[in-house]
Amino acid sequence: MLEFEDTESGKIHRFYVVDSHHHIGSDVDGHNNRNPVAPGGTFDFYVKVGGRLSQLFSDKPDIFRFSPHGFLNECVRNNEKWKDTLEGTWAVDQTVVFPFNDDFKWREGDEGNAIYWRSNDNISRWVTRAPYSLRLIGFGRVVPTEGKLAINELHRMVETLGLRGLKVHPRSDGWSSIIVSPEVKNILVEAAKLNVPVLFDTRGFGQVMDIYEVTNMARSELQSMDKALVTNLKVIMAHIGFHLGHNELFTVLSHPNIYGDISGVHDAGVPRLFEEAKELLQPNLGRYRNWSEKILFGTDYNYFDVPHAVQFISYVLSKNFPGTPEDAQRILGSNVLKLVPPFKRETKTTFTKVHVPIDLAELTERALAKQVAVLVSNESYDISGIDFFIDPHPNYQVRPRDFKITISRRENNHQEDINLIVISVLDILTIARLDNNMMNSSPIKNRILRYDDAISRRSFYEKLWPKNLETNPQKMSDFIKSITQTR
Ligand SMILES: [Zn+2]
Repeated sequence: MLEFEDTESGKIHRFYVVDSHHHIGSDVDGHNNRNPVAPGGTFDFYVKVGGRLSQLFSDKPDIFRFSPHGFLNECVRNNEKWKDTLEGTWAVDQTVVFPFNDDFKWREGDEGNAIYWRSNDNISRWVTRAPYSLRLIGFGRVVPTEGKLAINELHRMVETLGLRGLKVHPRSDGWSSIIVSPEVKNILVEAAKLNVPVLFDTRGFGQVMDIYEVTNMARSELQSMDKALVTNLKVIMAHIGFHLGHNELFTVLSHPNIYGDISGVHDAGVPRLFEEAKELLQPNLGRYRNWSEKILFGTDYNYFDVPHAVQFISYVLSKNFPGTPEDAQRILGSNVLKLVPPFKRETKTTFTKVHVPIDLAELTERALAKQVAVLVSNESYDISGIDFFIDPHPNYQVRPRDFKITISRRENNHQEDINLIVISVLDILTIARLDNNMMNSSPIKNRILRYDDAISRRSFYEKLWPKNLETNPQKMSDFIKSITQTR
């Protein structure tokens, strides 16, 4: 998390940063990032980005620093190995990772499996093990023209592997000329049913228009199927900076289901992208939507390296950026988190909850972090995912206090997930173990905890509503032990 401390007022301004385009694996073109912890890997890259940003901001009156925040800090503090692995990497908080065109994606004898199934397994292995699971969000990859095989693989990667989005690459997988097709439309419809976003590589503006067209096909099918699914259609066009000069780009981005990632943009392209977005995109969106809701930060590491990432982040945080800190927070992280559902696999646990007054919140969170540390010191336990609920506020008030954590227990081939939510509403901190219904409710699925009267949210909050408060630390600690218990 990036922090700027105003030395006069002592006020701290925070930004939660998510890289929404990043590769793990080994491409047939020679690019690779096999091990995110190795020199030159993901975490090393962020150490360099952080170092360079510190240099750049060193002459500013505000003190600049980056560090893990709140509960995550507690978790990491309790584990020397994690602390070492993640030291200095906190300029970027979380990363969406997906396969390259991997040289290991498929082998002879794999007939009957989708082309990228080995790559998807590989991503899943990285993103569901701590400490990587604290930082990495996994997307899988399919080739839509495989038809039924691709659809089945999409289900497998979301429901069994715990991946949370799909990356497709028309050019590299040889289907550029058939983007507008029933197969691609079917993949978009199925992804919407699973509530996961689909990120398209884009080369040439013709592809942008084709993706726009197939998105519309999927949208009308969803509309006739079940209107509630329409908002689950989430298409991300990668590399929108490559298409500056085509003003239609901003018509495409004003589509309610389409977003753009900026990976690859650099130098004069950075200010130009924002000037044009503000000038050309905003009028298409009307009064209730904001141009900054449509743009996602991403690095495309390791096709692009430290200079691109640093140029972009530092521009968004500079005085030249034509938006507010709220706009900056959206672009740097909140937008992508809204599109990506929290980590979830089938779960069998029952709902239970406890409430404590807010002045005991820190103590309680520390107790939970300790208990998690104790659990994962046992080989059969792991953290499969941690997801924060970040709403950008005016006045920089980003406080990643609310989160969901998944603790998994593996024994033989059996696997059990415990999903805990930690959330503060009014002056009360609530810890709850979520069952399937709660996991599928809209506040969790869409990461919007903000209370309002929408029926879908009301029933969620009714379940979470406190009847009494626990103030006895011993009882609290007993409760924490009991909810992290598997069967
Ligand atoms: Zn890429």
